[in-house]
Amino acid sequence: MSLFDLSFDELQSLIEGWGEPAFRARQIWEWMYHQLVDSHDAMTNLPKPLRGRLAAEFAFNRLTPRIDLLSTDGWTRKVLFALPDGSQIETVLMGYDKRRTVCVSTQAGCAMACPFCATGQGGFQRNLTSGEIVEQVLFFERLLRKDEGRSARMKDDGRKTKDERRTSQPASRLSDHPTTRLRDQPTNRLTNIVFMGMGEPFANYTATIDALRRLIDPSGWNFGARRITVSTVGLIPGIEKFARDGGQVNLAVSIHAATDDLRDQLVPINKRYPLRDLIEACRAYVETTRRRLSFEWALIEGVNDTLEQARALARLALQMPKGLIHVNLIPLNPTRDYAGAASRRDRITFFRAELDRHGIPNTLRIRRGIDINAGCGQLRQASPDG
Ligand code: SAH
Repeated sequence: MSLFDLSFDELQSLIEGWGEPAFRARQIWEWMYHQLVDSHDAMTNLPKPLRGRLAAEFAFNRLTPRIDLLSTDGWTRKVLFALPDGSQIETVLMGYDKRRTVCVSTQAGCAMACPFCATGQGGFQRNLTSGEIVEQVLFFERLLRKDEGRSARMKDDGRKTKDERRTSQPASRLSDHPTTRLRDQPTNRLTNIVFMGMGEPFANYTATIDALRRLIDPSGWNFGARRITVSTVGLIPGIEKFARDGGQVNLAVSIHAATDDLRDQLVPINKRYPLRDLIEACRAYVETTRRRLSFEWALIEGVNDTLEQARALARLALQMPKGLIHVNLIPLNPTRDYAGAASRRDRITFFRAELDRHGIPNTLRIRRGIDINAGCGQLRQASPDG
């Protein structure tokens, strides 16, 4: 168990249970979520015995970076972490102009078995705890903050080879990373969080919601809920619950195919939650929350980039309340065990034109960090013990 697994109320009752004054819980919380310290020892205004007891009973950082890669364009950074039980997860930081987006995992592995997804190909290990989700976010926020004020002085633009960029140094050393455009820009704070790393957030629902609450807690880190997006493969009970629990957090649904015959293959959980029911759940979600929903679509050459699929997708999107649906297209990232390829440019243009014709707002997302296997689950797959 780590301190990051606790809600503030849990921390407070723990501290009071130890016979400490209530304000100690507030102090600890501030060290964790305002100062963003990375060890018990850094909480210098706590009495030593209390610090010692905390350290004896709770871990602080449970994420040990094993591989740390920077894409050659300097805009994407990916870390493979080992957890205390040996399972591995990936977290990715993506920079774009002033944006700094972290992509977090909610499970080690995934049981959804989508054949084109590297995580799905590797199977399921276990759920992450809420703290393990929160720690991924804070890891990158700390890195960005440490670079603050240094960016202007960093003149070294030396690009290192992939091997030089691999490191198994502990977290503190990672700030000595080769210069990256991620730090050439003045933005030394995370601006967005996407739950699109390894795992299915709604198959680990409670930990996901707890992590979200902790990240947006106004008395804690106080991150804006509207700048967070959770992506689901389409687990209907999760979508229904999220309509109540999600607040201002955005939701994305991985559709990838607009007919059941094709979706049964690309997203096998479709056999349990077929499109008709899924779309109804999405519609109900949008009606209840009045929040815009995104459909995710990985474009696979000759598989789901056909006119028939584009039309069927438009029909599904038109069932959503007007103005509250958006389609995110992303060319497939090639993975080891899937033969499909990314759609060619002309087919993408053709597909988008069909969506446009039906008035469906859509965005083509650029693929990031292909050279560092930044796609979901790919780094673990490529690592020797993955
Ligand atoms: N389990 C969640 C989050 C996982 S990944 C979900 O399914 O939504 C986030 C997105 O990346 C999903 O839309 C997923 O389908 C997509 N994805 C996975 N592998 C991909 C690949 N090889 N190329 C492009 N997109 C991929």
